[in-house]
Amino acid sequence: MKAAVCYEFGKPLVIEDLEMRAPRPDEVLVKVAYTAICHSDLHDMNGDFEGGLPFVGGHETAGRVAETGCAVSAFAAGDPVVVSLLEHCGECVYCATGRSHLCVTKTTFDTDDALLDPRGRKVINKARVGGFAEYVLVHQSQLVKLPESFPLDLACMLACGVTTGFGAVVNRAKVPPFSSVAVIGAGGVGVNAIQGARVSGADPVIAVDIRDSKLERARQFGATHTVNSVGTDPVAAVQAITGGRGVEYAIVAVGDSQALQQAWGMLCRDGKAVMVGLPPFEQPLFSISGFELAFSEKTVTGCCMGTTRPQLDVPALISLYQEGRYDLDSLVSGRYPLSRINEAIASTAAGEVYRNLIVVE
Ligand SMILES: [Zn+2]
Ligand SMILES: [Zn+2]
Repeated sequence: MKAAVCYEFGKPLVIEDLEMRAPRPDEVLVKVAYTAICHSDLHDMNGDFEGGLPFVGGHETAGRVAETGCAVSAFAAGDPVVVSLLEHCGECVYCATGRSHLCVTKTTFDTDDALLDPRGRKVINKARVGGFAEYVLVHQSQLVKLPESFPLDLACMLACGVTTGFGAVVNRAKVPPFSSVAVIGAGGVGVNAIQGARVSGADPVIAVDIRDSKLERARQFGATHTVNSVGTDPVAAVQAITGGRGVEYAIVAVGDSQALQQAWGMLCRDGKAVMVGLPPFEQPLFSISGFELAFSEKTVTGCCMGTTRPQLDVPALISLYQEGRYDLDSLVSGRYPLSRINEAIASTAAGEVYRNLIVVE
C-alpha cells in the first residue's frame, strides 16, 4: 500500500509502497478516504515531539472498514468510520471512571512491526494511526461508526481538530451559559473552541490571533470580539472588553507555552485557563506567582485532545452539524491527492488554512 513516509526531520515526505501485516484479533484495517493535516503533524515532521524515524504521519482520518480481526464484533467491512488516535483498554481506572482519553494501558498496540518499507525497515505508524496512507491498521477502540450518509471529508476532522477545540470548552472548561471566554489562536483548533463557546451560550467570546484574516473569519464561527495581539497587549485588550474584570475562561489553542502566560493574565478571579495546544516537547511552562495563585484562586489545567470520548463527542457534533448549529464545511481549506502531500503540508505551514485534506479514496 502507498504511504507518505517521513525519513528525515524537516525534509519532504517520500511516497513509498509499504508492506502491512494482517489485523490481530482486536484490530481493524481501514481503507482511508481522507486524512486532514494537523499542526501536530508539522511538529512531528520537524522533530519537535518525541519519537523516532521513519514514520507515517496523519491522525485525522476517516474511511471504510476493509477487514476486521476475529475478535471484533462492533464493526464490519464497509462500515464508514472516524479513526481516532485515542486507543483505550476499557478496564483501567481512567476508562472505568469515564476518562478513557487518559487510558494508561496500551493494549496490543505495539505496532512498530505493522509497517515495513521496501528495504525491510520498520516504519512507525505515528500516533497509532499513520493516516497519510491508503490503509491504516488500528485497535478497534479507536473507531467510531458514522451514519452512512455523513460525508467522510467532514468526518476526518472530527478525529482531532474539531473535537480538540470543541472539547476544550465543553468537556474540560465546562463553560456555562453567559460566561466570558477568550480563545488564543483562531486556527483549526481555535475556531472549534470558538464554536464550542458559542454552542455553550458563552458571551463574550473573544478571539485572539496575530492575523487579521483569521480574526475576521473567527467572527463567522461565533466570536463576538477580536484582538490582534501584534502591536496590542492582548491581556489589556481582554481586560478592557470585560470591563476590567478579565475572562472566566481562557483557552490556549496554539502550541506555545508563552500564550499560556497571556491566558493567565486575562483571567478574572477564580478563572480557568485551559492549555489544549501542544508546544514543542522541551518548551518549559511559564512562571507564576504562588501568592497570586493562592489569592486569585485561578486554575491552569491541561487538556488532552479536548478531553474527548470520541464515541460520545463525534455523534454529538454530527447532530449539531445536521441541525445547522455547527459549521464543518468552512473548515475545509484545500484538497490534495496523496501524491501532492508535500504541497498540502507547505500550505498548512504557511498558517492561513484551517484544514487541508489528503484525498486518498
Ligand atoms: Zn490533530
Ligand atoms: Zn484504560
